[in-house]
Amino acid sequence: METQKPQDYRLTELPVEPAAVPGCAFCLSLVVARQNARSKSDYSGVSDCNVELREHHAEAH
Ligand SMILES: [Zn+2]
Repeated sequence: METQKPQDYRLTELPVEPAAVPGCAFCLSLVVARQNARSKSDYSGVSDCNVELREHHAEAH
């Protein structure tokens, strides 16, 4: 199943958080890391994970 990826996200806006692509371990690990960061109120960690996830989506999916 293909997940649509936004092509025009902008750094000045806060888009919807990227989700894991089913079956992709790398996505899953980033989503888990993001949940972890959020549970510690580590919001810069959360946004780091979102950045990595978007880059990974752009490269790998
Ligand atoms: Zn992935």
